[in-house]
Amino acid sequence: YSLRTVLSGRCHLSKVGTGRRPPPARVRVAVRLRPFVDGAAGANEPPCVRGIDSCSLEVANWRNYQETLKYQFDAFYGERSSQQDIYAGSVQPILRHLLEGQNASVLAYGPTGAGKTHTMLGSPEQPGVIPRALMDLLQLTREEGAEGRPWDLSVTMSYLEIYQEKVLDLLDPASGDLVIREDCRGNILIPGLTQKPITSFSEFERHFLPASGNRTVGATRLNQRSSRSHAVLLVKVDQRERLAPFRQREGKLYLIDLAGSEDNRRTGNQGIRLKESGAINTSLFVLGKVVDALNQGLPRVPYRDSKLTRLLQDSLGGSAHSILIANIAPERRFYLDTVSALNFAARSKEVINRPFTNESLQLHALAPVKLSQKELLGPSEAKRARGPEEEEIGNPELTASAASASQKLSPLQKLSNMDPAMLERLLSLDRLLGSQGSQGTPLLNTPKRERMVLIKTVEEKDLEIERLKMKQKELEAKVLAQEALDPKEKENSLTVHRPLPRRTVTGAKPLKKAVVMPLQLIQEQAASPKTEIHILKKRGRKRKVESSQVSEPVEKASEDCWELQISPELLAHGRQKILDLLNKGSARDLRSLQRIGQKKAQLIVGWRELHGPFSQVEDLERVEGISGKQMESFLKVSVLPVVPALPARPCSNSSPLPCRRTS
Ligand code: ADP
Ligand code: MG
Repeated sequence: YSLRTVLSGRCHLSKVGTGRRPPPARVRVAVRLRPFVDGAAGANEPPCVRGIDSCSLEVANWRNYQETLKYQFDAFYGERSSQQDIYAGSVQPILRHLLEGQNASVLAYGPTGAGKTHTMLGSPEQPGVIPRALMDLLQLTREEGAEGRPWDLSVTMSYLEIYQEKVLDLLDPASGDLVIREDCRGNILIPGLTQKPITSFSEFERHFLPASGNRTVGATRLNQRSSRSHAVLLVKVDQRERLAPFRQREGKLYLIDLAGSEDNRRTGNQGIRLKESGAINTSLFVLGKVVDALNQGLPRVPYRDSKLTRLLQDSLGGSAHSILIANIAPERRFYLDTVSALNFAARSKEVINRPFTNESLQLHALAPVKLSQKELLGPSEAKRARGPEEEEIGNPELTASAASASQKLSPLQKLSNMDPAMLERLLSLDRLLGSQGSQGTPLLNTPKRERMVLIKTVEEKDLEIERLKMKQKELEAKVLAQEALDPKEKENSLTVHRPLPRRTVTGAKPLKKAVVMPLQLIQEQAASPKTEIHILKKRGRKRKVESSQVSEPVEKASEDCWELQISPELLAHGRQKILDLLNKGSARDLRSLQRIGQKKAQLIVGWRELHGPFSQVEDLERVEGISGKQMESFLKVSVLPVVPALPARPCSNSSPLPCRRTS
C-alpha cells in the first residue's frame, strides 16, 4: 500500500542532540575513475588521467605537456577498485550516524557515461552503493530495533526526481511538482511525498525497481540512456524509545544519482534538451557553490538557490555526513568533462611541473620535444637541463637517488662566476620552491620551458661578463703600461712638471682617479694597441673646503683640477699640424683654432707676412697683440681635442706634459 505522510507539524518532536549544534561538517569528496569500457571509441588510447595514491590523482595538461595537474581528494578510487571498495571506504562508515539521529548524503557526480549509475546502483553482479547501503541499514535497524532493545526502529523510503527544477515523486508518478518546506527546527520536508515502509531488501526492491523505470531519460549523442535528472532516494530511519521518556529521533539518508555534468554544448543538444541541460546545470552549479561554501566555512550557504540544494539543506553541512563521489572516465574524449568534474570536486589542485607520467604519452608526444631541446642545448647543457623527474616517472623509489644525482647536475653549482643579480634571483627562486615544500634540486623543479630560458639567460650573461672582463683587463694593462712609461719620459725632459703634491684638504677622503677616453680613441685602441691614452688625474684643490662644496661646471673642474698626460708622438703630430696651419692657413682657417678670433687671425697673418713662417708654435707669443697669458691659454685648450680627425691645434713644444695647472 502507499502511505502518504504529511511531514509538517512535527515541531513537537525533539531530535536527540539538536540542542548543541556541532560546527558545519565539510563535504567529503571522493573520486572514482572507471576503467575503459568495452566498445568505447578509442579503447586502446592512453588514459588521460591516472591515480597517484589513495587520495590523489593526476591529469595530463594537454595544453602543456610539461605540466601535470595533480588533484587531492579525501579518497581516490582507481579503475581497479571494486564496488565494495567504494562502499566500505566512503559510504559504510557514515551509516551508523543515522541511528544517532543525524542525516547523511551520498551524491554521485560526473559526466554522463563516467559511472554514476554504476557507482550508485550497479548491476546484479556488481551491486552499487544503494543496494549495499540498504542491505546494511536494514540489517542494522533489525539488530538495533530487536525486541528487548531500548529503541524501536523503522525504515521508510521515498524516491523522487528533480527534473527541470521540478520535484517529482517516482513512487507516485501521477503527482505533480511537489513543494519543499522547512519546519521550525530546520528540517526539510516534502508534504505529499510517498513514504514506503521497508523491512527487508526484497521489499525495497519491489518499490525501487519499477520506480527507476519512471525516471526521465533522454537520448543524447553522448549516451543512449543519459540521465538528465537528479534521482534522489531518501531512506529514513525513525526511532522511538520504548521506555520513558519515549524520545523520538530521525535520521535521513539521501542517495543521489545526479544528472550528467557534461557541457551540453558538446552533446549536440538543441531545443528542449538544451533547456533541460540548462536546468540541470543550474542545479549542479548551485550544488557546487554550496559544497564550496561549506568546505570553505563561508557564512552564507546558498541552499535556496536550487531545488536540489534546498532539498539537501539539512543533509549537507550542519551535523550531516556527506560524501560526493565524482565519477570520471579515462578516455580522452572525456578529457574536458573530467577536468571540469575534478575542478568541481577538488579540495585542492596543484599544477606540477612535470610531464604527465604516461609511457605512451612520453614516447609519442614528449620524446620529440626532449630531443629538440637537447639538440638545441648541446650535450652538456642538455645534461644540465635534464631534471630528475624523468627518472622519477612512474617509479617513486628512484626519487631519492635521482635527487642526489641532480645535486651534481645542478646548474647552481656552476654559478659562482655569475652575475650577482641573476644569482640572487635564482637563489630566491630556490628559497621560494623550498618554502613550498619542493624536493630535489630546486632549479630542476621549475618548468622545463622556464628552465631553458633561465639557462640560456645565464649563459648569455656569462658570455657578456667574460667579454667585459677581457675588455677591462686589456684596458688595465694599457694603463699600467702607460704609467710605466711616464717616469722615463719625465726623466728625459728638463721641464717635467710633476703633479703637485696632493693637498689633503679633508685628510680622510682619498682622491679619485678617473680615466677619460674619447670614444674614437677606444675604437682606435682596439685597432692599434700602440696608441697612447690620455689620462686625466684629479689633483688636490687649492681652494678652501667651503668653496669645494660649490658645484662647478665640468669644464671648469677639469680646467682647475685635472692634469693631462699625452703621448709625445701624438703631441708632436698635433703641433706639426698646428704649425702648418699657422704658416699656410688663411685668416679664416686660423679662426678654426680655439681662442683665435677674427682679430688674432689677422694679426697672425700679418706677422707671418712680415716675419716669415713660424718655426715653432711658441712663436705665436711673439705676435704683437697676443699676450703670453693668451698664448698659454691657447695651448692649454688646444691640447684636449688633439684627435687626428679634428683640426690640429698648437701646443707647447717644450714639454711632453704641456698642460699643467698653473694655479
Ligand atoms: P553514468 O551514470 O555516469 O552516465 P554509467 O554508470 O551508466 O554512467 O556508466 C557508463 C558505462 O560504464 C556503463 O556501461 C557501466 O556499466 C560502465 N561502468 C561505469 N563504471 C564502471 C566501473 N567502475 N567498472 C566497470 N564498468 C563501469
Ligand atoms: Mg546514469
